[in-house]
Amino acid sequence: MTEIQKKDTLAYLDNNATTPLDPAVADKMCWFLREHFGNPSSIYPIGRAVKEIISQARENVARAMGAQRSEVFFTSSGTESDNWAIRGVLDTYPEKREIITSTIEHPAILNQAKYCEKKGVRVTYVPVDSFGIIDLDFLRAAITPQTALISIMHANNEIGTIQPIEAVVSIAREHGVLVHSDAVQSFGKIDLDVAKLGVDLLSVSGHKIYGPKGVGALYVRKGVDICPFIHGGHQERGIRAGTENTIGIVGFGEAARILIERGKKDRERIEKLTDSLKKGIEEKIPKVKFNGHPEKRVKNTLNVAFPGLESEAILLALATKGISVSTGSACSSESEEVSAVLLSIGLRPEIARSCIRMSLGRFSTEEHVQAVLSELPDIILKLRQISAFYPEE
Ligand code: PLP
Repeated sequence: MTEIQKKDTLAYLDNNATTPLDPAVADKMCWFLREHFGNPSSIYPIGRAVKEIISQARENVARAMGAQRSEVFFTSSGTESDNWAIRGVLDTYPEKREIITSTIEHPAILNQAKYCEKKGVRVTYVPVDSFGIIDLDFLRAAITPQTALISIMHANNEIGTIQPIEAVVSIAREHGVLVHSDAVQSFGKIDLDVAKLGVDLLSVSGHKIYGPKGVGALYVRKGVDICPFIHGGHQERGIRAGTENTIGIVGFGEAARILIERGKKDRERIEKLTDSLKKGIEEKIPKVKFNGHPEKRVKNTLNVAFPGLESEAILLALATKGISVSTGSACSSESEEVSAVLLSIGLRPEIARSCIRMSLGRFSTEEHVQAVLSELPDIILKLRQISAFYPEE
């Protein structure tokens, strides 16, 4: 960590928003910047060397998700991958004008879906239960011959709940419908295997696995047709144009290599830390409620409600103690809106407004957990004392 990170971020507990760049990734990116500038499309050695390095990065990202190298296409972000999956499939099958998604997707899916609705596409939103698991019967009943794509996220960014993607795929197969999954939050947090999941398309992002921001990938299963989203040159085998973000891809590839090497160990350690944080909060703070599925969830994420309080006040009080947490998805944390995910799992708006999200990662330590456990109970106690809204029982 740099001096600024040490000083300003004593305990960074917002790894679902973004992860710190792994120092080994930074080293690899610096090496690449110093040694290589070629355009990978150029056929002389300076270009071919970069092409070879990109190919290795693609191999690493593919291996980290159980895919083949030819099935991975680099994009500018998880957001672009999500947008591309929906628009690309709709453009490939212009006779099919329906898609199905869920109510708890990331805005990268929900706002693309809204845009498609404006263009005449019918979108069905599958509801979820109180743990955030989608209703499979509703999904099955929503499929029609017009359905082009089902897009259901793998792990939710706010509450961590993992969806039964294999079951979604088996329902979709009965009707010959393609399945996309936004795996931006599961990649690196669970053992992700596209072959086991059976999906046709899957989105991932570099900055959630200790790689750089501004680079992502879309997995496109061999044999699946998808129209380009960005038109131009012949890069990415002609379906995602634009001179490659070579430095970003190199960093993403290195982050994926490290994930293969130490992902399992990291996950075990992070799960233990998260469990001890949860236990500590339960023991030290009365009247808290944890959101999300108790088991079927990524084991780094805690979303907790403090009924009667405003999450913004908790977040700011923690920030003054050098502890960074979040009120929800990074993309909506600056807006006043109540989390659509928390409303979807049935929380009342005032409860949803009382929730904070803590998400641990590779660089989280026991000291960070202890910092939260020593500061948070006092903060909650004081806020409860001054809160006019604290419910009387
Ligand atoms: N999907 C999910 C579930 C996310 O959590 C995020 C980012 O928070 C994205 C998509 C967007 O990824 P990116 O930040 O790479 O655009």
